[in-house]
Amino acid sequence: MRNGIVRGFKHALSFQQVQLRAAAPIQARRWQSTSPSTPQSPIPQRRWSTPLAETIAKAIEVTGPVSIASYMRQCLTSPDGGYYTTARPSSDQFGRKGDFITSPEISQVFGELVGVWFLTEWIGQGRPASGVQFMEVGPGRGTMMSDILRTVAQFKSFEQAIEAVWLVEAGDGLRKQQCALLCGEEAEMEQMEEEGKPTFWQAKSKYGNGIPIRWVEDVALLPKNNERDAKMPFIIAHEFFDALPIYTFESVAAAPEQEKTQLLDKSGRPMVRQDPASKVPQWRELLVTPTRPSLDLFSTSKEGTVEPKQPEADFHLTFAKASNPNSLVIPERPRYQQLKQQPGSRVEVSPESYRYIQDFAKRIGGDVSRQKPAGAALIIDYGPLDTIPVNSFRGIKEHKIVSPFSFAGQADISADVDFGALADAALEGSEGVEVHGPVEQGAWLTQLGVQDRAARLMKGAEEDKRADIEAGWKRLVEGGLKGMGKAYKVMAILPENGGKRRPVGFGGSVTP
Ligand code: SAH
Repeated sequence: MRNGIVRGFKHALSFQQVQLRAAAPIQARRWQSTSPSTPQSPIPQRRWSTPLAETIAKAIEVTGPVSIASYMRQCLTSPDGGYYTTARPSSDQFGRKGDFITSPEISQVFGELVGVWFLTEWIGQGRPASGVQFMEVGPGRGTMMSDILRTVAQFKSFEQAIEAVWLVEAGDGLRKQQCALLCGEEAEMEQMEEEGKPTFWQAKSKYGNGIPIRWVEDVALLPKNNERDAKMPFIIAHEFFDALPIYTFESVAAAPEQEKTQLLDKSGRPMVRQDPASKVPQWRELLVTPTRPSLDLFSTSKEGTVEPKQPEADFHLTFAKASNPNSLVIPERPRYQQLKQQPGSRVEVSPESYRYIQDFAKRIGGDVSRQKPAGAALIIDYGPLDTIPVNSFRGIKEHKIVSPFSFAGQADISADVDFGALADAALEGSEGVEVHGPVEQGAWLTQLGVQDRAARLMKGAEEDKRADIEAGWKRLVEGGLKGMGKAYKVMAILPENGGKRRPVGFGGSVTP
């Protein structure tokens, strides 16, 4: 009986009309009168998995479907419910109780070897006695920077050369956690000002003679270096680029011959002219839009009322109906040209990542305002060695892969990093840099001596900790389902040197 009524209801109104009118009281009465099992209840409200999902859905009602990039930005860093920017009641995002675990949280050896790698670069670039800056984007709990600084402290002249550590972190709660770890539980961040404007937060670290730790929210707020003031920036991005927003495009076949214009040639005969644009495949953007509750499937709620079945995810992807400014500009780089010619190909592109990597490249390679290239950047993340990522957008909650379109703001969402695109962008950003890698994390750590370092750590550890240390370093190096050694890649940006000095882990040796 109920099914019959609903079918009738559906026939009477188009799907869209139902959606549009659902909120109006008159519609609610009509729904009730035809549903014997829920005589008094109004049309049940659409249930969203999180308050942020509802906010995004309401915005889409006004603006129309949005880019994946805009959805990602909201989910991860919205001041109002974003995953990294909202304080969480019990634990943070990381570790067993959180949603995911990262290499520096698995083993201290990871951060220590990153510190050793920077040491080899400092030695290889002439051991300057001052002007070294450490920079980390997306430091999470601050664990890796703490492991780096502890390692560097064993090499006094390197430690003394460090003038400041800069951390780029969007989340206020995470900035405070980083401060507690690097500067002590009692430490307080001070808001610094320049010409009356707030510039960064600062606190004194536990390392060196109180090396200052400074926080900004975006790479654009880092200080610009100038030529009078030579700096050597050592930059690390670990599991950061996968959190930067991506756009997705699919190549669609050329439109059928339709754009014919009736023009007459000189002799008065009709001339057929085809729009040249319709002959070549085009990119179409995939956009995020809310799913609709099914009106012919029902589920029974906890209270015993029968409601239209809620979809599994709050949002899904739909094609833009035509080219839009994003699809006309963002994938029009040489890297994507070949795929564009093969209809059905998809690409994920992150222009936001170029902004970060080009900032690193300019700092290291110099731009018009600097002369001598110096420093190094390490990018460590998951993604393919040289192909363009496709269909990699995913959600992670409580250590399980979930739809990226559920639990907006309460699940981590990320996408594979396109290392090839990062390398192209870095080389475009400054003529003064060269790029090494990416190489697999397992191979990189092995060349840096991970096994020896772990063995030394195990020797000094208590009996019950040894098995954990061993399992930890092996997980960082090994492949397979749980291993991180193959899925994660390492790429380095260095001052341009004609490829003469290969860095450690990329074919170079530890002694310069
Ligand atoms: N590097 C850490 C944490 C990785 S999680 C580790 O490996 O354990 C991603 C980190 O990047 C978090 O600290 C998050 O708050 C930060 N982050 C994500 N998007 C950001 C953005 N757009 N701007 C600044 N920080 C961001």
